[in-house]
Amino acid sequence: MVRICYQNAKVFTGKNDRFEQGVDLIVDEDTGKFVTTKETIDQTIDLTGKYIMPGMINAHTHIVADPYGKIAALGSTDANAVNSTFLALENLQKLLKDGVTYIRDVGSVYGVDIELSKLEKQNRLFAPGIVASGNPLTMTGGHFNTGSYEVDGVDEVRKYARLLLKKGVDNIKLMATGGVSFNGETPDDVQLNTEEMRAAVEEAHHKGKTVCAHAQGLAGIKNAIRAGVNSVEHAVYLDDEAFEMFLKTATFIVPTLAAPWSINENSAALPDFMIQKNLEVAQSHIESIQKAAKAGVRLAMGTDAGTAFNSFEQNSSKEMELMTKAGVTNLQALQAATVNAARLLNVADKAGTIENGKLADFIVLEQNPLEDIQVLQKKKTVFKKGKKVQISDNYA
Ligand SMILES: [Zn+2]
Repeated sequence: MVRICYQNAKVFTGKNDRFEQGVDLIVDEDTGKFVTTKETIDQTIDLTGKYIMPGMINAHTHIVADPYGKIAALGSTDANAVNSTFLALENLQKLLKDGVTYIRDVGSVYGVDIELSKLEKQNRLFAPGIVASGNPLTMTGGHFNTGSYEVDGVDEVRKYARLLLKKGVDNIKLMATGGVSFNGETPDDVQLNTEEMRAAVEEAHHKGKTVCAHAQGLAGIKNAIRAGVNSVEHAVYLDDEAFEMFLKTATFIVPTLAAPWSINENSAALPDFMIQKNLEVAQSHIESIQKAAKAGVRLAMGTDAGTAFNSFEQNSSKEMELMTKAGVTNLQALQAATVNAARLLNVADKAGTIENGKLADFIVLEQNPLEDIQVLQKKKTVFKKGKKVQISDNYA
């Protein structure tokens, strides 16, 4: 049994609202958890001048996808069980290096996220913890239909929700509207309706699991909230009634600002329909997230990693910067990536804060991200279940 004490750093535990001196972290390397100071300590590591925060949680990934489209882009017919698994294993390591120690995958194929989640829980796979959704549910011809189960009507939605739960998902992903990444639909298109989504919510909630909905247009967003989903993904167009609905139901927003940012940065390499739709949504998206943060809507960090040029290796820390540029405070961004995301993912009993008995998932930084959020993109050391990932010095 090896117990290591990391001392003298300033620590944001997720329970406090600033980096405080005098919080020593004691890690039991065998269990990979934080333990109390009463236990015997084998080794002490002095981190004077450093800043420690909980590992980041990314609530919106697609680990089976290649953002650069070389092996298998999201929804590509080139995807098969082997290359999807290969991509997922690579992408999980990239996420870890960026400081992400837990994810919610919201659209995988071949049950890759479900099976890797089990292996990670058994400590057979060194990777971020995974809340898996398996294949999303979409209407026939709906958003991401190449990688989803196509379902129509309440009974079919219920049937496939039950099938996903049988396979072992912790979350069900629904498509409430069209989107940017696929041709032939718009972000405003209403897709699964309230009654259909409510059937999935009932089935998931009966088993203590969660539901999230991809929803960009206003009507679809309201349908999803009325259906009782736990989070709305993207939330591009919001009006006053929508803000009230979010607040009243405590529904989360997962902004995924890295997705439109990535398309915009790489527009030369992308099809016209995607660039055009992206331009149409970008400004409203930023304004909606800004107003949501001001109104006190609960935010959880997510990037949509796996969409076009939306990288696993640095876009989680980039998303933190993009959120603050949209008007989210630095503290709200840190909470969105830690304590809030843990609540949304239903993993607050083991992740999201630095506390005795929880997983020793944490990041050591050179500077204070509450003063400059971009320090998350610079040199850092990441620990998952008490084990060091690596010192990332490939950042500027
Ligand atoms: Zn997505």
